Amino acid sequence: MQRQALAWRRAGVRIAFVPTMGYLHSGHASLMQRARRIVGPAGKLVVSIYVNPAQFGPQEDLSRYPRDLPGDKALCSRMGVDCVFVPGTDEMYPPDKIGNHSTYVLETRVSSSMEGSSRPTHFRGVATIVAKLFNLVLPEVAVFGAKDFQQAAAIRKMTADLNFPVRIVVAPTIREPDGLALSSRNNYLSVEERSQAVVLSQALWLVARRVSRCKSGVPASRLKAGVSRMVAARPLASMDYIEFFDPATLEPVQRVIRGTQMALAVFVGKTRLIDNALL
Ligand code: AMP
Repeated sequence: MQRQALAWRRAGVRIAFVPTMGYLHSGHASLMQRARRIVGPAGKLVVSIYVNPAQFGPQEDLSRYPRDLPGDKALCSRMGVDCVFVPGTDEMYPPDKIGNHSTYVLETRVSSSMEGSSRPTHFRGVATIVAKLFNLVLPEVAVFGAKDFQQAAAIRKMTADLNFPVRIVVAPTIREPDGLALSSRNNYLSVEERSQAVVLSQALWLVARRVSRCKSGVPASRLKAGVSRMVAARPLASMDYIEFFDPATLEPVQRVIRGTQMALAVFVGKTRLIDNALL
């Protein structure tokens, strides 16, 4: 991959990159479209598919994470992707003469709250794999989804802090008609769970409406209590976290106004779903 990327760069070819864990859906496809628009028809669009063990906790869904390489390749082909990079773990974390992989990238400011506190080693795994992929794919631009708002913020910060010559673009969340954000993990949901999973996007719309009506803002504690009641009313759903924060700094706010970012994580059955919105 790196040899190919170096050859493209030497020939002055622009490279756009969309990193994924596969089981691709229309959300991923929208990132590919955005990436293609940026580098144009003469540029190269690279999509990586790699379920990165380092970003899963020991009790998480690594072994049962959905996979469909033939389907993913077909989608990439329809989207005009030039290169699908599918490394194995033996290639991404190979032991060398000294021993196993022992270098990690740790972003320590925007990674600590929310996903970072619910999944303590998650962002270390994400930052490390994205840094490695940037060094292999050598993109000029990389496109991430707003669906994983905190992940995009952590990668933006890492890219700036470590001087990666990569432009980070964040593309909007693609949703089902009823509001549920597309996610490979939606595949885990039973019919009953699927119908209750809409509570995440419903909570975002409800809070957005409430905040738009109140110029002086609404206390975050009151909104958290309201959303927690909403979630508790769904027998299969339980709240993991809900947070209101400044989208630029990710600092929590006490009073929620227009322009505050809201994020939440909810278990629906055993499946943990996340969503967020700029209110
Ligand atoms: P994943 O395969 O879940 O690791 O996601 C790969 C990339 O796709 C990440 O940048 C995600 O934020 C993005 N993504 C996932 N779901 C969506 C969605 N529903 N809309 C837009 N982007 C998404």
